[in-house]
Amino acid sequence: MAVVGVLALQGSYNEHMAALRRIGVKGVEVRKPEQLLGVDSLIIPGGESTTMAKLANYHNLFPALREFVGGGKPVWGTCAGLIFLANKAVGIKSGGQELVGGLDCTVHRNFFGSQLQSFETELLVPKLAEKEGGNDTCRGVFIRAPAILEVGSDVEILADCPVPADRPSITVTSAEGAEEVYSKDRVIVAVRQGNILATAFHPELTSDSRWHRFFLDMDKESQTKAFAALSLCSSE
Ligand code: GLN
Repeated sequence: MAVVGVLALQGSYNEHMAALRRIGVKGVEVRKPEQLLGVDSLIIPGGESTTMAKLANYHNLFPALREFVGGGKPVWGTCAGLIFLANKAVGIKSGGQELVGGLDCTVHRNFFGSQLQSFETELLVPKLAEKEGGNDTCRGVFIRAPAILEVGSDVEILADCPVPADRPSITVTSAEGAEEVYSKDRVIVAVRQGNILATAFHPELTSDSRWHRFFLDMDKESQTKAFAALSLCSSE
């Protein structure tokens, strides 16, 4: 059975471990680069991305994380984890922040505002129903949440949501390089790009296991591909 790693530096890693246990899957806490060698896929939890980046630097994890993502193993970032996986993050105060990257998108780190502007809402996610049948909505828990402003052509949008009226106004750079206030009335909050899944909200804080099962299916797909490649090599 696939072993799912959970980056356990900071944030909601215990909640992801519990969510995996609920569906009978073995989760392994990852804190050091060598521990990535023993897992088939990885969840990067929500939390505080600047602190997580500092801790990841301290443990010299960035090169190994980049290799893991680039190697095609399934990776799921929730909230701060999404920020980690983005190729570009904006809304970061002085000094910038190191990112793992791999996901072709621009994310705004605190798009929905501060802790006080945290909220829950119902999201329409047709892909969840496509996999399992039944309900095509899920509860989105947004805590100091980021949002995805732009995606590349290989990125599949799984969910978007209306922009709440009380969110602080946000300045973005247009394709022509001009600074303008973000004025769309919806924003992207869940995407998939090949082996990468990213959600701006926290499925691990709900009792709905469908996102974890969705990720495990990505894991199974990648194991089947690896097995097929191996059989091909050995038959040559
Ligand atoms: N906006 C937060 C950050 O920068 C992420 C919040 C979360 O993971 N709940 O890291």
